[in-house]
Order: sequence, then structure tokens, then C-alpha cells
Amino acid sequence: MAADKTQDSLRGMSLPEIWNSAEVKQLRLDMLQERKNPLCLKCYEVEAAKAQSLRTKHNNADRAREKIIGQTRSDGWLDSKHLISLELNLSNACNCRCRYCCHRRSTGWYKDFALLTGSPGLPAALTATDDFPNLYGQIRDLLPGLQRIRFGGGEPLIADWHYEILEILLAGNRVDVKLSYVTNFCNLTHGGKDILELWKRFRDVAVSASLDAPGSRGEYIRKGLDWNQVMQNRERLMRVCPHVIFCISPTLSVMNALGLPDFHRDWLEKGYLRPNKIDLGILFGPVEYRCQILPPHLKREAVASCRRHIEYLSRRYGPSAKRDISSFQNAVTFMQEKDLTCLIGRFRKTTQALDAIRDERFEDVFPELAGLAAGPQAPGAEAPLASYADLLSLETLEPYERARTHLELALLHKQAGRPDDAAGEIAKALRQDGLPADSYQDLCREANRILKELAPQPPA
Ligand code: SF4
Repeated sequence: MAADKTQDSLRGMSLPEIWNSAEVKQLRLDMLQERKNPLCLKCYEVEAAKAQSLRTKHNNADRAREKIIGQTRSDGWLDSKHLISLELNLSNACNCRCRYCCHRRSTGWYKDFALLTGSPGLPAALTATDDFPNLYGQIRDLLPGLQRIRFGGGEPLIADWHYEILEILLAGNRVDVKLSYVTNFCNLTHGGKDILELWKRFRDVAVSASLDAPGSRGEYIRKGLDWNQVMQNRERLMRVCPHVIFCISPTLSVMNALGLPDFHRDWLEKGYLRPNKIDLGILFGPVEYRCQILPPHLKREAVASCRRHIEYLSRRYGPSAKRDISSFQNAVTFMQEKDLTCLIGRFRKTTQALDAIRDERFEDVFPELAGLAAGPQAPGAEAPLASYADLLSLETLEPYERARTHLELALLHKQAGRPDDAAGEIAKALRQDGLPADSYQDLCREANRILKELAPQPPA
């Protein structure tokens, strides 16, 4: 959750060094004293919406917590023998290019990003380390105490490093290490290896498939995914590895907020999913994809659809669907927590630009949301100022997003004939700390354009 904020890195630091880095020690102390640490802002935002965050989930589930609290030194140092759980997202290799993802997290995104911006800035393939053999050695050293590994990516099932680590576990006869995956579930084979044959040898495997919607909707949101293949993979997994626990981990966004309850119900009824096997992630950024941008009538529909689903789950499964029910309750709470309709113009702009590159049409795939994608890209007069205030109140808003919001506000003030307010917003946009140089130049160009139009015109 803190990936873009931390300075710690496997380049130049080992896992035990990161475990006791200045940042992590401070984080431990802050957590012990219930002080908010900036690395955790995303979790705090989820908690503010009364939903379960990664932080609270682990705090509630980890039974070893009390023991290690007692062993934490006053400066936050903790013996690395407690490093029993790894979450490894070691490369951005991925076959998909999900709408809300980016080329930092997916090699699949690289070409689209270059077409969108004219310059991707970074190389296509990114890895967390230049020295995988060294990292494998560190993992071998941790092997005696290791209890869990969570593999992410990119896409772990097409990543060589993931297969290397499984071989390390097998060579050390650690088939008892709990494996869990966040995967797009498109490929069960890679480089001549069949992951199901490997999973058969481990006792405890849990797969969380990132599936947002069925059929063409799923294929639109998660470009590169083949829905028929996903269903075949699900059936093969049930047949060949019945011991593998299967969950879905959809990302709740504006695109699937209306249809997610039906998708979940359908998979329960098909027997592809058991109750309590949804790990619903809430999308925070890019902000224009948040479900909170839905206009009031669509938000009401999405909320009603979640509530009907909650009723169905309670009636059909009772307490055994407790986690599913609470996931959909969290979705409702989050949707209702803020009005971000001011972002509809931005959603339109992003969607139309990507549709043009991918030769797709949002409104053909999501006719019920067609009004969101059609129309002008500029913020409309209909966007209430309170909605901008809600957006700017987000602590997690990136500096670039914040600056863009001030410029959009400047445009609104200009359209409403309030030049002083417009100039004030432009000044706020350009005063943002932490703006990357190329974004700053873009913002300056846009600011200049607005300023020119604000200046009194010479008499004809
Ligand atoms: S599957 Fe994951 S890493 Fe790949 S594009 Fe989608 S969100 Fe990004």
C-alpha cells in the first residue's frame, strides 16, 4: 500500500535490512502508539469510510501480534526472525493492461502509455532488484522460519522469479509454507511449466483471481483477458487441484459498481465460488475511476443493487456469507461517503483517449453508463463546488491530481465569470509540492491557456 511512498528498496538493501530500516522502525512505533504514519494513508482512508483496510484485516487476523509487540525495542527494532511472511511483487511482467493500471505495474501497458503521453519515461520491463540470485539466497536464509508467501506482480503466473521461488521451497522441502496469489487468472502454464502440477505438491494454496466483471465487460476493464479462458481455468482448477482455495478479488470501480453483485451471485450459483470467498478491493486511484464519481441516480441504483444482493446472501447463506455481506456493505459505505461527480469530465477524457488507442467504445460495452462517457471533456457547470471540496479533502490525492483539480476549478470559475477566483486556483495548482517536472510543464501550459482567456481583451 505504501509502494510509491517508501524509500526502502531491494536495490542496495537486503530483506532483513528493510525489516529494520529507519522507515519501518518508525512505522512500528507509530502503529504501536496509534499515530498515523504517511505510508499508511490509503488504509486510513478506507477506515475513514468505515470499511476494512489491509491494516485492520491483518491486525485482526494475526495471532502472533501480541507476542511481537512485546519484543519490539523502544526504537522500533524487531528481530528479523519474525520475518515469517513475505509479499512479493518483484516485477511488472503482465499480459493484461487493465484500464486503471499503469505501465509501472504492467509491461502490457507500456505501448498504450507511450501513445497517450508521447514518452513513457521508464523502460517497459521493471524489476524490484537487479540481482535475483542474491534475493533467492536471502529467501533460502529465511526458509526455516518462513510461514507464508503472497505472490503478486505484475502477474505472478507468468513471472520466472515466482517459479524459481517455488523450486527453492520444494528443494528445502517446505511444502507447508502457505502460498497465496493475486493473479489475473489468464495463464496456468508458463515456459513449459504447469502451475497446477506445482500447486498439487503444496499443502496450502489460496488463489485470489482479480476478476471485475464477466464477458465483454471483464475483457474491456482488464484488456488482455479472455473470459472463456478464465472459465476454463476455473473448471480445470476445481478438477485438478480441489484443495486450492479460490477467491475472487474484484476491484470496485465506476465501471463495475452496478454489475458486481450480479457477477458475484452468478459465480456462487454456478458453483465457481463458495460463500465468504470475495476479497473486494476498493479503487482509490486514478481518482476518475472511483465509484464515487457516479451521478446520484446511478449511485442510487448501484447502492440498491448491493443491498438486494446483501439480502439475497443473508437469506440464502446466512452467517456463512458474513464476509461477503460485509464486503458489499463496505462498498455501499464507500460509494456514499463522497460525491466526486466533478470527476466525470476527467473520466470522459481518459476513457475517450484510451478507447481511441484500443479501438473500443465504452458506451457499447456499458450502455447503462453511456452518459458518463459521452459529452464534453471539460468540467461542466453541473459539477457542484462541494464535489471539488470532497475531492480536495482526500489526503491520498497525488500532487498532480490535486494540481489538475485546481485547474479544473479555475476553468469553472472562469466560465462563471469569477476571474479572481480562477487566478487563485491557478496559483494553488502551480504551488503544489512534489510535482514531476514533465507534469509541471503540462500544468503550466494549461494554466497559461486559462490565464490568457482571463485577461481583458483589447477593444476591437
Ligand atoms: S492484471 Fe494487475 S498488473 Fe496486470 S494490468 Fe491488470 S491490474 Fe495491472
